Order: sequence, then structure tokens, then C-alpha cells
Amino acid sequence: MAGPRAVYVDPRLCEAHALCVELAPAVFDLGDDIATCDESPAASHRDDVDAAIAACPRQAIGWVDAPPTTIPKGSIA
Ligand code: SF4
Repeated sequence: MAGPRAVYVDPRLCEAHALCVELAPAVFDLGDDIATCDESPAASHRDDVDAAIAACPRQAIGWVDAPPTTIPKGSIA
């Protein structure tokens, strides 16, 4: 069984296209020039996160199989 996963947006890649916000508004939000996210979305929103990952033109979104405290440096959690 998979362990806990966290969502991240890589600020080095995000160009604020906002497709993630359209597909998963409960998880993603758009700041001044970058998306932010709820790192631990409810299980009911995980399919929306997967859709946002698939749609992001910059491949800036992903899951990490680790607690939020170990998200790679440079990522927004
Ligand atoms: S779809 Fe990708 S590039 Fe666009 S705002 Fe979301 S994370 Fe950033």
C-alpha cells in the first residue's frame, strides 16, 4: 500500500497558466505569478490533482511519496 503523498508545484517551472486552478480549484490557487497548492488534498480531490498534473503545460506539478517536510528543496508545498 502506498504511503502518504504530497502535492508540489515547482516554482522554477510554473508559468501561471492556471489550468491546474481550473481543474482542481479546491487544491490549487494562483498567486501573483505562480501557482500554490494544498499539499495534502482530501482523497476526493486526488483525481482532480491527477488531471491537473496531466494538463500542466510545464510539467510543474507532481506527487512526492514522502511527508511534506521532505519535499525537494525549491518546491512549494
Ligand atoms: S497549470 Fe502548471 S504552469 Fe499553469 S499555473 Fe498550474 S502549475 Fe503553473
